[in-house]
Amino acid sequence: MTENLAGWQQADRQHFLHPFTDHRQLGERGTRVITRAEGVYIWEAGGQKILDGMSGLWCVNLGYSRAELAEAGCRQLRELPYYNSFFQCTHPPAIELARELCELAPPGFNRVFFTNSGSEANDTIIRLVRYYWSLLGKPEKQIIIARRNGYHGSTVGAASLCGMPWMHAQAGLPIPNILHIEQPYWFGLGGDLDPAEFGRRIARQLATTIEEAGVDKVAAFIAEPVQGAGGAIIPPATYWPEIQKICDHYGILLIADEVICGIGRLGHWFGSQHYGIRPDLMPFAKGITSGYQALGGVMVSDRVGDVLVEKGGEFYHGFTYSGHPVACAVARATLKVMRDEKLVERVRDAVIPAFSSRWQKLAEHPLVGEARSAGLIGGLELVPRKDSRNRFPKELKVGERCRDFCIEQGLVMRAVGDTMIVAPPFIISNEQLDELVDKAWKALDLTRQSLGQARGKARSQASG
Ligand SMILES: *Cc1c(COP(=O)(O)O)cnc(C)c1O
Repeated sequence: MTENLAGWQQADRQHFLHPFTDHRQLGERGTRVITRAEGVYIWEAGGQKILDGMSGLWCVNLGYSRAELAEAGCRQLRELPYYNSFFQCTHPPAIELARELCELAPPGFNRVFFTNSGSEANDTIIRLVRYYWSLLGKPEKQIIIARRNGYHGSTVGAASLCGMPWMHAQAGLPIPNILHIEQPYWFGLGGDLDPAEFGRRIARQLATTIEEAGVDKVAAFIAEPVQGAGGAIIPPATYWPEIQKICDHYGILLIADEVICGIGRLGHWFGSQHYGIRPDLMPFAKGITSGYQALGGVMVSDRVGDVLVEKGGEFYHGFTYSGHPVACAVARATLKVMRDEKLVERVRDAVIPAFSSRWQKLAEHPLVGEARSAGLIGGLELVPRKDSRNRFPKELKVGERCRDFCIEQGLVMRAVGDTMIVAPPFIISNEQLDELVDKAWKALDLTRQSLGQARGKARSQASG
């Protein structure tokens, strides 16, 4: 295995263009080759065992060694490895999965459109929302309002919904009729306002933007219940009720992007339920197969679904692999494990409290300005002084340092600027949570020490 390592790294550098990667930097720093995984751990070629605090990319919620999921996939591969659901055809795995999802969803959700990813789910959303309004005789309702620093995927449509200007700049995005309002990020943007007041004010931007654009032009608002990729941004309690009120008042569609928050991560089947939101559409992906297969989709409420069916006409949209039977079979196995083991209840009543109490301890570290969590999503804000919310100079790359020290300690914790984030698997034990927090603390210590050195060096260079 180790003999292969250098060869793999070389071939990787030569041939494999990685997603969201600076390829020159990757060539210089090299890659870690992950060869196997078990439970909440991954192993590198060469042997290092690493606690996966991110559940892969927010998806391997059941951990890496679920035989039930592998077997369900194998069985389906032997029985019916593929058939499409175009042209009046269908197959049992997609039918059964659609039915099960509608049983788990809040009342009023009785239909599902399948895709292969969260990005495709959000592209579907753009198409569906605009089609819905045109079926109702309001084709001019085209504008979808999203949020700065929101993440909705990387296809052209989904990336347009994202509020990440560097993604837009590279590709001439967003597509027309997408607007962005501010995110409910109190630690970064709250200024002197208390979180409750800040949450209300940021939410009111939705009303202002609808008024400015004209309600006859606005189709929908999309947001993640908790922002994941943007940095584990948890809205103040006042935010979602205000957003719901505004959407109701103007009659625009509310879309909760459940790709991370859905399927249990906030202790409910859907993250919207945690916040008492009543969305009209819910894109999902990631945890639906625990990451074992590529599957996404959109939960469609009766408000939208009934119009689609009753008005008729073809919706010119779909994918070769929409509702892929193997992916659907693995999703059904995932939901079965979750139901049989009462995992959503266990996450809510045991794992989340165990996680949040330990995570909160990290707030005592001198480098940490805030330790926050919602469900099994945690964020840490790294700051130079605990008594203010001022940030480190960007060029110190404090978050990246901390991430690298985490890996050295055998922990995957992600950095978004100087915000550290985790999203542990649902099956993590209390001992493993202790390990996660101990390693994070150690990495914070090492980060702080390295900054002392960096600052010392800067001073001596300045004086010399
Ligand atoms: C990851 C993510 C997506 C995109 O999903 P892909 O499967 O990577 O296309 C969309 N929305 C949210 C909230 C996500 O976290």
